[in-house]
Amino acid sequence: MSLQPVIVGAGPAGVRAAQTLVAHGLRPVLLDEAARAGGQIYRRPPENFQRPAKVLYGFEAGRASKLHAAAENLLHSVDYHPDSLVWNAQGGALDVMQGHSQTTHQQPYRQLIVATGATDGILPVPGWTLPGVYSLGGAQVALKFQGVAIGQRVVFMGTGPLLYLIAWQYARAGVEVAAVLDTSRLSDQVAALPGLLTQPAVLAKGLYFVAWLRAHGVALHSGVRPLRLLGQARVRAVVWHDGQQERQLDCNAVGMGHALRPETQLADLLGCRFTWEPQQRAHLPQRDAAGRSSVAGVYLAGDGAGIMGADAAEWAGELAALTLLADKGVSVDAARARWLQGKLKHLQRFRAGLERAFPFPENWAAQAPDELVVCRCEHITAGDLRRTVHEGGAKEMNRLKALSRVGMGRCQGRMCGVAAAEILAHATGQSLEQVGRLRAQAPIKPIPIHLLQTPDPP
Ligand SMILES: Cc1cc2nc3c(=O)[nH]c(=O)nc-3n(C[C@H](O)[C@H](O)[C@H](O)COP(=O)(O)OP(=O)(O)OC[C@H]3O[C@@H](n4cnc5c(N)ncnc54)[C@H](O)[C@@H]3O)c2cc1C
Repeated sequence: MSLQPVIVGAGPAGVRAAQTLVAHGLRPVLLDEAARAGGQIYRRPPENFQRPAKVLYGFEAGRASKLHAAAENLLHSVDYHPDSLVWNAQGGALDVMQGHSQTTHQQPYRQLIVATGATDGILPVPGWTLPGVYSLGGAQVALKFQGVAIGQRVVFMGTGPLLYLIAWQYARAGVEVAAVLDTSRLSDQVAALPGLLTQPAVLAKGLYFVAWLRAHGVALHSGVRPLRLLGQARVRAVVWHDGQQERQLDCNAVGMGHALRPETQLADLLGCRFTWEPQQRAHLPQRDAAGRSSVAGVYLAGDGAGIMGADAAEWAGELAALTLLADKGVSVDAARARWLQGKLKHLQRFRAGLERAFPFPENWAAQAPDELVVCRCEHITAGDLRRTVHEGGAKEMNRLKALSRVGMGRCQGRMCGVAAAEILAHATGQSLEQVGRLRAQAPIKPIPIHLLQTPDPP
């Protein structure tokens, strides 16, 4: 039986992969948990919303419109299933929950392209579970998807290029941005210039956001150490250390995030081999330069296999599809595949520059107080984790999870995994590579429990 190739994710990577397969005469199945194709950067609002692309996507409006048009043009040539969450993978089939009907079915595959994208990297700070505190990406989704702001007076905190982009988007939308608090330093950005200059247009956009924010009176602080968020019913202030003294600022919402984290759970359930990637401080699924994973028939594309940005995701999606086709014996344009590989390789220097410009705050775990809630689903604190290490002997992430329940709740470690690994590594004196990663478990995202129940025998 000939099965259609399946693509998970209709972001830049998934859409370009689908387009390439269609151009070679195949009819892929395209699954995405979102209601409309576009992925994160080109996320689309509900159909009845009228805001123009320029307002929604700024400098990226042209790219967004092109990707949306490509997705629309595919509608008759692919089996596209929006609102379809892939929550498990086993033995050549994906378990898919259809959001509207709240039913689950199996989607068989022989060739699969995983293009599941990324989510925020979260480093908790005391008070981060207060109402009014969002992840940076969550703050942007609220604005882009629904046209709402997370508050009237917002502080953005953490590090990474999205920090300034989202602050700019909020300020342009008329929201008062009280401050941008960046844990990285100006000296980091200066040291990163050689890498950043390999993509001068992208660098120019970043500099523009910073200059615009300054020109519009937004306070930008770098080299900060976030200390705590204050409030009771809702966040009301941010306290940080500026290197010399503690400072406090009133606000009624906070968007926080430390760069992005690839969504690797599906690759994990599929049995893909993972390796430690020091630059991204993460265990990532292995892929060769053409997009093959370690599992025959499974291809990886886009940010889900390592953060590279939206342009790279489009190229990687096309490349993974060309590789899949070549592996099936279909004749493809080998020169195009080589060109795509070259573009992706070239972008790695820029990526290295970004990691240098916005480094992870190395001493975060050492400074995290015992009472800091790390895992909000199970209410596990940094102190609980340290006790589990010292009294329970946990040295590895899955042992830490078994003994403490960290990462066992609704988010399955997607939000707390980064911070828990940092605490474990610091408490045991090991490297992050040595403490390992939380193994993915189905369901990889929450689904109604009744879908897991087998019906009673008649
Ligand atoms: C919240 C957020 C906001 C961002 N905003 C910007 C920005 O403004 N500018 C910028 O340059 N970069 C931004 N980025 C980074 C940018 O989104 C990525 O570089 C780019 O979109 C990567 O494309 P992709 O196709 O790999 O993944 P994505 O665009 O993330 O697409 C992945 C798709 O897979 C779907 N998916 C994931 N898991 C499953 C599953 N289990 N089942 C079914 N579907 C699934 C998702 O719904 C999504 O549509 C953002 C990232 C995030 C997380």
